[in-house]
Amino acid sequence: MTSQKSKSPSTPHRPSQGNRDFRKRTQRSGKPPGNEKISDHKNTEQQNTPRGAPQIPTGSAAAQPCILLKAGREKSLLRRHPWIFSGAIERVDGAPVSGDTLPVRDAAGDFLAWAAYNPDSQITARVWSWREAENIDAEFFRYRIANAQSARRELKHTDKSNGMRLIHAESDGLPGLIVDQYGDVLVMQIGSAGAERWRDTCADILQELCKPVCIYERSDSDSRGLEGLELRNVVLRGTLPDNVEVVENGLRFKVDVATGQKTGFYLDQRDNRALTETLARDKDVLNCFCYTGGFSLYALRGGAKSVLSIDASGDALTIAAENLTRNGLDESRAEWLEADVFQALRTLRDQGRKFDLIILDPPKFAPTAAFAEKAARGYKDINLLAFKLLRPGGLLCTYSCSGGISEDLFQKIVAGAALDAGVDAQIVHHLHASADHPVLLSFPEGAYLKGLVLRVAG
Ligand code: SAH
Repeated sequence: MTSQKSKSPSTPHRPSQGNRDFRKRTQRSGKPPGNEKISDHKNTEQQNTPRGAPQIPTGSAAAQPCILLKAGREKSLLRRHPWIFSGAIERVDGAPVSGDTLPVRDAAGDFLAWAAYNPDSQITARVWSWREAENIDAEFFRYRIANAQSARRELKHTDKSNGMRLIHAESDGLPGLIVDQYGDVLVMQIGSAGAERWRDTCADILQELCKPVCIYERSDSDSRGLEGLELRNVVLRGTLPDNVEVVENGLRFKVDVATGQKTGFYLDQRDNRALTETLARDKDVLNCFCYTGGFSLYALRGGAKSVLSIDASGDALTIAAENLTRNGLDESRAEWLEADVFQALRTLRDQGRKFDLIILDPPKFAPTAAFAEKAARGYKDINLLAFKLLRPGGLLCTYSCSGGISEDLFQKIVAGAALDAGVDAQIVHHLHASADHPVLLSFPEGAYLKGLVLRVAG
């Protein structure tokens, strides 16, 4: 197979847009059935705020600032779920502004939590602490950040990789704050008014604890708008090196911190990419939604016979091809295609192409459960087509990073796709995000990434 790289049209990524617009792309290349309004973003895993500023009843401005819940609406807080939706609020006393820390009380006035207030968001408050005696101050953030750092140290994966998620928002007790580490560069993403308020404090603490050469802020995902926050894409501390690289299990990937997707790289798929390497030997591989070539490079190093990689982003594909060279992998086994996957899968089917291993790692189709139905159509469509492209005995590695699609529902969608494709398949692996993306037990929304490896009958 020849190495063919389609370059992007010369439009550079506009930082404020973060990811490319998947909807526009599908429209331009012909709209496939069932994916009309699928969200394009994969870079905002936990920011599932519904649209529109809520109406929040206010009490006396002279009273002590406090969020008072409606009777019976304290239940989720008692289970330690950290979000307070506008509909649960009886009234807000005092005259707090966005980002303020307020006590949350039940209808009887009993203390429940300290939370960051955001009147512009449907998630009107996010809990910092359940302890009444806690002070939400610099020391509090130092403790939480240090705790996240030591939890990552215990994972010991720095032996294998210099990239990791250092802070995973709600699941690390820091709602709205994501920090990814790429060697000595930290990339921070802020998705809540509370984290926004403490941005500089957190940056100072991270500088002190991690001593990076740069802390870069990529707070430019669309979901910031839903929180009433402005988009920001700036150096916070230090200087951004020209060439940021993540080394993962010995493979080197360029990370485009300033204009790439998300914080520049998808660290959550690290372990799943490593698994792909073990499955790829002598196989014809199709990697859909390949971004900068993560799964493709692992498959090539694992001895794949050929790897066809597809993505709608020309910029991502340019980096993917660079990454191939960077790692000295055999270019003659790699083919890169800039295309809409929904369309490309149909074309491959019509051409009678067949593969032994297919990877589907699409962007987030359903940010919330409200989008689940439309998203389900999109997932079913690509999985059905993929099943049809597999040779007997072939493997499908299929993922969903939609917070609005549960693991159970995802499995049902994939089962429906196999049925309609007329194949029998068995689940070989249930997959999740790597361990540096922990999931707080009381916050199931943190388990956004789910995957299945399926083997179709021989
Ligand atoms: N598997 C990748 C991450 C994939 S992120 C890794 O391991 O790094 C999702 C990718 O889907 C993004 O690169 C985005 O550009 C691409 N994308 C979004 N919609 C698409 C579409 N309709 N067709 C092709 N690619 C699409």
